[in-house]
Amino acid sequence: MLRILNYINGRLVEPMGGTYLDNFEPATGKVYSQVPDGDERDVEAAVAAADAAFPKWSRTPAAERFRLLMKIADLIDARADELARAETIDNGKPLTLSRSLDIPRAATNFRHFATAILHTHSETHVTEGVALNYTLRQPRGVCGLISPWNLPLYLLTWKVAPAIAVGNTAVAKPSEITPMTAYLLSQICMDAGLPPGVLNIVHGLGAKVGSAITAHPKITTVSFTGGTVTGREVARTCAPLFKKVSLELGGKNPTIVFADADMALTIPGTVRAAFANQGQVCLCGSRIYVEKPAYEPFVSRFVEAAKKLRVGDPLEPTSDQGAMVSKAQLDKSMFYVDLARKEGGTILCGGAPPTGLNERCRDGYFFQPTVITGLDDTCRVNREEIFGPVVTIMPFSTEEDVVAHANGTEYGLAASVWTQSLPRAHRLAEKIQSGTVWVNCWLVRDLRVPFGGMKQSGVGREGGDEAMRFFTEPKNVCVQVPQV
Ligand code: NAD
Repeated sequence: MLRILNYINGRLVEPMGGTYLDNFEPATGKVYSQVPDGDERDVEAAVAAADAAFPKWSRTPAAERFRLLMKIADLIDARADELARAETIDNGKPLTLSRSLDIPRAATNFRHFATAILHTHSETHVTEGVALNYTLRQPRGVCGLISPWNLPLYLLTWKVAPAIAVGNTAVAKPSEITPMTAYLLSQICMDAGLPPGVLNIVHGLGAKVGSAITAHPKITTVSFTGGTVTGREVARTCAPLFKKVSLELGGKNPTIVFADADMALTIPGTVRAAFANQGQVCLCGSRIYVEKPAYEPFVSRFVEAAKKLRVGDPLEPTSDQGAMVSKAQLDKSMFYVDLARKEGGTILCGGAPPTGLNERCRDGYFFQPTVITGLDDTCRVNREEIFGPVVTIMPFSTEEDVVAHANGTEYGLAASVWTQSLPRAHRLAEKIQSGTVWVNCWLVRDLRVPFGGMKQSGVGREGGDEAMRFFTEPKNVCVQVPQV
């Protein structure tokens, strides 16, 4: 059986403890590979390698860092079919999604930050007649990069690319549930000629490898994407060590549909926002508020479209929906559907695993797209992140009401507003407490814009200039102006 290896100091190595964890294929429910059960010894070796590589890498000319990152992007493109298949087997998402979204985006992440470092500028402030101040942006040292399972290579490279582009070195930890594409990325980095120690990847459990990274005194900077509960733990560890921390956490995102919305655009758009990647995108719109005059027709069209989504073997090009990432994630969706029933909700479609799957997928973790009505904002189903293909639809009367509904959870990651009234869209965008507001679209991503959450959806921003700022230390140099 294939054994994934850690990537430390430019080499693929066994975990020091010599033990491995089973890695399951979600579509079949069977173990298909093994992932290192790393621990603090592996993290120690990775940090030592990253620390040793830092002085040279941080002084490597930007043009050379650009060349190496572009080479990595090219190799991702060259191996895109293999990477997409590996991700689908590892994660359960449809191959078509992995091939069209996740893997191309991983290459784009490297290209985006490779080219960004060729176009930087720094600030100057003249203190009239006294001094000239300029800001030196310097890499911070060894960065700890911890990522989740839902967009495994996409989110890992979203951290790795800016961190190393600006001259840091890194110790990365992918989710133990989806380690395969990170393993392939380590091979790609070796093939690209990335100097040893610049990027190190340690596999294993969050409680062992993740916590060893966040607690390590030589790791100055931690970029974490994952659940809010884990984020709180990461913050608790990093705060007394005064680390610079970025936390990209959970969401319970509202989708707001006004009666004037163009339904030909809105129905497919909101269905995609609800169920993409089996609802396992942090940005998925899982609470759908529809203006009263449009409520009944919207519900029936939305349910009709949800029922048409084909749940099946993620390797088949005809499947719109693949498997949930794990048994735990499947159980969580089932738990919330049961809870919805107890809270008085009506299940309009789905609510159970599908029938008619092929033989290969008989024991896989599949769940049907599920639409629930009849619940209000006080229900747990409407307050807690489910992270599965389970959404609720509710009517609303006024703009004020829907803003209150939208802002009524502890989360604030993303929202989408569907209307043909531009003034209204701007008004809502200003009032909604979330890091992103999409108008008549969803998951349109320009890598230059700030990305992140408000409230318990996170602290800090990724993306474009924000990431370049996060991964550098702004040093003020104040030079006295000679008096003449
Ligand atoms: P998770 O919090 O369980 O794990 C995320 C990562 O943290 C994994 O690599 C895990 O091994 C590691 N980890 C676990 N315990 C740790 C600890 N004590 N110290 C350090 N690291 C630790 O999250 P998940 O289940 O992998 O991912 C799903 C969650 O991620 C959802 O809540 C989703 O909303 C969120 N998410 C957020 C964004 C965003 O950009 N805001 C993007 C994707 C996913």
